Amino acid sequence: STIWDHEFDTPVFKGKVSFPTGIFINGKFTEGSTGNTIDVINPTNGKVITKIPEATADDVDRAAKAAHKAFDTVWGLKCPGSERGKLLSKLADLLEEKWDEFAAIEALDNGKAFWSAKGDVGISVDTLKYFAGWAGKSHGKVIETTEDKLAYTRHEPIGVCGQIIPWNFPLMMMAWKLGPALATGNTIVIKPSEATPLTALRMASLIKEAGFPDGVVNVVVGYGNTVGAAIAEHMQIEKVAFTGSTLVGRKIMEAAARTNLKNVTLELGGKSPNIIFNDADLGKVVNWSVHGIFFNHGQACCAGSRIYVQSGVYDEFLRRFTARAASLRLGDPFSADSYQGPQVSRIQFDRIMSYINSGKEQGATVHLGGERQGEEGYWIKPTIFTDTKPNMRIVQEEIFGPVGVVIKFEDEADVIRQANDTVYGLAAAVFSQDINRAIETAHKLHAGTAWINCVNQLHPQVPFGGYKQSGIGRELGEYALDSYTNVKAVHVNLGHNL
Ligand code: NAD
Repeated sequence: STIWDHEFDTPVFKGKVSFPTGIFINGKFTEGSTGNTIDVINPTNGKVITKIPEATADDVDRAAKAAHKAFDTVWGLKCPGSERGKLLSKLADLLEEKWDEFAAIEALDNGKAFWSAKGDVGISVDTLKYFAGWAGKSHGKVIETTEDKLAYTRHEPIGVCGQIIPWNFPLMMMAWKLGPALATGNTIVIKPSEATPLTALRMASLIKEAGFPDGVVNVVVGYGNTVGAAIAEHMQIEKVAFTGSTLVGRKIMEAAARTNLKNVTLELGGKSPNIIFNDADLGKVVNWSVHGIFFNHGQACCAGSRIYVQSGVYDEFLRRFTARAASLRLGDPFSADSYQGPQVSRIQFDRIMSYINSGKEQGATVHLGGERQGEEGYWIKPTIFTDTKPNMRIVQEEIFGPVGVVIKFEDEADVIRQANDTVYGLAAAVFSQDINRAIETAHKLHAGTAWINCVNQLHPQVPFGGYKQSGIGRELGEYALDSYTNVKAVHVNLGHNL
């Protein structure tokens, strides 16, 4: 395994950060089976931050075996929930102590602003604490049937769970995955994105320090089509939880179907509508709408990327929204006044620019931005399109960048029809001061989350997940526990004779 040392000397974070970066299997950091490495890139300038070992399908197999052994011997039904809860709480405490360090690693690796990365660390701590609380509290029921029978259910852990996560909120996605899986007694083989592996590897050291038995959590860093595919296909992995694109989500389901029919939960993409009625409080709406599409550089699955504005306030909204978007400061993630950093990678940068070009070619108007910023790194100016048509790619497809479309509408029924005219169903927002209208509209939208007079709001206690092609299953909240347990029904005969 390798040790990564980095000296941070920035206006907001100074200090030496040093930790092992090998593949983490059975409590040890190791090289990958081939000895190959992956370059970790700084998206502000495209330069290499460090190299880390690349895992392979063989390493996934080693990790799954270690997880399987841990499940049978020291975790699963062998470890009481209260004990699992203590370990999760300890992990949350260790993460909280290293808040700035984790935020700095994340900002460097992902390119998001340091202040924003600090928010991610906070939510990650809260998520781990929340699920620590569930560890001793998820249990079955006694079901009254007849007097000669005792029937009850047990909530048993599933076994070894594969978890595949993306690069937009690397640490937070890891916390969302670890929390419910560990609270309910499963063991884990987790694969961070090859684009942003550093916080996951730093977490591996904390998992060890917290005292989790070897093999309970294994971290394998590698590419999707090798390591990710090997997780989805592995016969000893009983469940796979995936967050990423709808395209890859489909492949995960196919792999599960072809192999052991493992349980599958998916958190996929979105093209979330943000509906603004004439009677909305425009000052507040503008701030929320900017946050909706430009937060995290538009790299949020629930980003409010389709902004529908009723005709009475369309011009005024567009003027104020454009002015706010134009004032967002793109800059060094470590500078305290930066709002937006670079997109995460060359691949994403190219993808977003090709969507911007498609919008131009298909005849939409670039109202703001529409171009890169600077000569190096992956910076894209906040971009607003108007004069779109419903079938344009920029209206239908997920761009996953700082690109919003603003669309005028006249009546309520029409906007609900347009908002639901998508293969996605992750989230939707409604802005109106008429609470009846707002609630009625929220109920008519086909989405797993509906926000009223806000957007992009999440809480560890509240479930999150998609309708339609945005996913299967729910993360966060009590609902997440269902995705990580098998329900066993037990019938005890108390005197019924045949
Ligand atoms: P992606 O699907 O390419 O990658 C996500 C993860 O899957 C990565 O770890 C990747 O290595 C892995 N992967 C890639 N190919 C694989 C394969 N064949 N088999 C198994 N694993 C594979 O997505 P991305 O481009 O990295 O991330 C952006 C997408 O993720 C967007 O579409 C976004 O909406 C979605 N996303 C959804 C949520 C959510 O909660 N719903 C959250 C974040 C991101």
